[in-house]
Amino acid sequence: MDDLSRFCCQNSECPDYGKRGGENLSVCGRYGPDKQRRMLRCRTCKARFSERKGTPLFGSTLPGEKVRCVLEHIAEGCGVRKTSRLVEVHPDTVTRYSRLAGDHARTLHDELVAFSPEHPRGAV
Ligand SMILES: [Zn+2]
Repeated sequence: MDDLSRFCCQNSECPDYGKRGGENLSVCGRYGPDKQRRMLRCRTCKARFSERKGTPLFGSTLPGEKVRCVLEHIAEGCGVRKTSRLVEVHPDTVTRYSRLAGDHARTLHDELVAFSPEHPRGAV
């Protein structure tokens, strides 16, 4: 079974909009390279959306790799200016993504960062 507990309906008109738990959601298809990305469907409002919708990666203008880098630096405690210099993006972009990430940051971090914070890499 797919675990959809961290997803919620993305249709702002839907009574279940923003409610996590996944009981109203089901997987209705897959897309992307190797069909890794799921399309979700809300039983309540019949809306379909990508599992990426509602995360900072969806519709982002930066490549996912850059966003991952930005969030990784932020998560490591780098300031906006330092992050912008290291990742080579505009400081405003860093601010925007770190704000966008908000409560998604932890989920994203768990999802995208291959190493565990408990086993840090050596000094970079
Ligand atoms: Zn819905």
